[in-house]
Amino acid sequence: MSRVSYVNGEYLDYNFAKVHIEDRGYQFADGIYEVFSVIEGKIVDYDGHINRLFRSLSEIEIKSPIHKKSYYFHIKNIINKNLINNGLIYLQVTRGVASRDFKFPKNTKGSLVIIGKTIHSENYEKAFNKGIQVKIEKDLRWKRVDIKTINLLAPVLAKESAAKHNCEEAWLIDQDGFITEGSSSTAWILKSNTLYTTPLSNSILKGITRQTLIRGLKNNNLKLMEKRFNIKDIKASDEAFITSATQYVMPVIRVDNFRIGNGKPGKYAEIFRKVYMEAVKLS
Ligand code: PMP
Repeated sequence: MSRVSYVNGEYLDYNFAKVHIEDRGYQFADGIYEVFSVIEGKIVDYDGHINRLFRSLSEIEIKSPIHKKSYYFHIKNIINKNLINNGLIYLQVTRGVASRDFKFPKNTKGSLVIIGKTIHSENYEKAFNKGIQVKIEKDLRWKRVDIKTINLLAPVLAKESAAKHNCEEAWLIDQDGFITEGSSSTAWILKSNTLYTTPLSNSILKGITRQTLIRGLKNNNLKLMEKRFNIKDIKASDEAFITSATQYVMPVIRVDNFRIGNGKPGKYAEIFRKVYMEAVKLS
């Protein structure tokens, strides 16, 4: 067997792993997900991600199909069975399979899928050394993006539009002209040695990488302000970044047509990456 995935209690060949056509994830995007990074066979920030998964489940009233403690066992199995040294785990829980009806089905067990993927660390190094380009897009998402749901059409469209303009990420802008976050990452700018990121609310996802970096910054006495920023602030910034479980800390060298700094990753990119890697918990 080549790649192996976990589907509702079974370990199946990735190419033949299937879910039912009336899974509510498929019909209503009625489910939630998590992405865990794997470094040298270890799961990064496991507790943060598993706790956010349970919060997401609870916010939309899905009962976990397995005990909280069992997730670790199955994720580890997927890492081992797929011989993942560096890579990621994608884990999704939906409300399960039922005849199509908007209301919650009664007595339906949630569906759980776990997929593992190898990513070669050279890809990250290459992107980090070059820096990424970002396009600003309207934030068209619903009002509870603090829940990590699989309803991702708005970010899909934003990222596609960014890609068409040779950009690796989209930064989403709200009706008041402030950046909320990236389509799949947290957004940051640095100005006069202070790092800025949007404060937590229902309008952004509480990034686990964000939380870990903030913890690291506190330990290193680096300045942070959780404050909204707009295009004017971006133009005036010295450096910019994104963070996410799979990108860790990634420098941004251009936002729309504005070059950030001298158009190359700045010195703080390396500092914040180190701070993050030191603060990170591996299990
Ligand atoms: N915001 C959004 C909208 C995301 O999809 C992600 C990626 N999960 C993040 C922020 C970053 O979160 P994390 O650091 O937990 O990956």
